[in-house]
Amino acid sequence: MTAWEGMAADMDTYIKRIDLTRDYEAHREEYLKAIEKVCRETAFSGGKYADAFDRDFAEYVGVPYACGVNNGTSALHLAMLALGVGPGDEVIVPANTYIATAWGVSYTGATPVFADCTPDTWEIDPSGLEAKITPRTKGILGVHLYGQPFDYAKVREIADRHGIFVAEDCAQAHGAKFQGRMAGSMGEMGCFSFYPGKNLYAFGEGGSITCKEETYHRHMTRLKNQGCDVRYYHDEVGFNYRLEGLQGAVLSVSLKYLPQWTKRRQEIGWRYLREITNPLITMQAHPDDTEPVFHLFVVQVEERNGFVKYMADAGVECNLHYPVPCHLQKAYVRLGYKKGDCPNAEHLAEHCVTLPLFPEMQEWEIARVVELCNCFGGA
Ligand SMILES: *Cc1c(COP(=O)(O)O)cnc(C)c1O
Repeated sequence: MTAWEGMAADMDTYIKRIDLTRDYEAHREEYLKAIEKVCRETAFSGGKYADAFDRDFAEYVGVPYACGVNNGTSALHLAMLALGVGPGDEVIVPANTYIATAWGVSYTGATPVFADCTPDTWEIDPSGLEAKITPRTKGILGVHLYGQPFDYAKVREIADRHGIFVAEDCAQAHGAKFQGRMAGSMGEMGCFSFYPGKNLYAFGEGGSITCKEETYHRHMTRLKNQGCDVRYYHDEVGFNYRLEGLQGAVLSVSLKYLPQWTKRRQEIGWRYLREITNPLITMQAHPDDTEPVFHLFVVQVEERNGFVKYMADAGVECNLHYPVPCHLQKAYVRLGYKKGDCPNAEHLAEHCVTLPLFPEMQEWEIARVVELCNCFGGA
């Protein structure tokens, strides 16, 4: 029996998949000071601190505009509206993603068309895209899933050939790079989420859309603000999708730490890739021209349920991202997909496991996850 098998049931040695309390404890004073300032000025909805974060975030991504909104799902919705997506249109999205990617399309009255992922990167497969394009196709909404950039160059080439847009769902990819370019700076739109647990997160909900075109930015700013440029004069039916001032203030603090958090995620991610050598555990491929940010460290295991139980018994929490691919969700039954339509995404859904990974992980925790993985199956 190794030293830690004896400690497994001990709560002090329980390893959570992610633990946000450590960031709060580390920067508590700074966060509270930022929150206090917003409260004193009662700059609660939109306003000075939300606007300041928009400027900070646009600079970070390296684009002229960032439009802060109330969550990542709203970001996707507004991006689709600004790109002119509406009833009768189709937008191609990957089958393996968080469902909100598809919601952004559905909210406009358009239809998401689900595309399979590659068998190795688990990102949207460019080779299957052309067959999905119809006269109704408005664009491709790619997802840098788990913080691993999809093959933007190939997707762009196909989109350009057909005169359709490419938008990026960057909800899991703050700071990730494809061929040296930042996620959210390549496509017509970059949609971000700041849900707690994302690489950059609010103390509640938040999101942003980055873009290079002033007209898109102006339109989304109006849409999120009840459809008005001038207060009480509503030029179109809008939404209340504003970013809260408190979230903007918190996000401006967190953004300063994002580069060091990213570096730490990358150290842990590359270490897992190097040190977990159990042939029963399959790793995601990370092509050389990409810089992943390891939002989620997902592996595939044939005996997935056994593996999750083995880790839980040893005091390590693992999750599944995601157990059902979008095309097989009940919500989309009416679209008529069936098992076998996206075989790689389906295989992933049945075999994926997410290992603990967050910037504040301690050395012993990382070492323990590695050791447990390598001992799985009596290897
Ligand atoms: C989190 C997430 C979203 C939705 O963001 P919310 O802020 O939770 O609305 C969209 N797409 C992906 C890929 C996500 O991971």
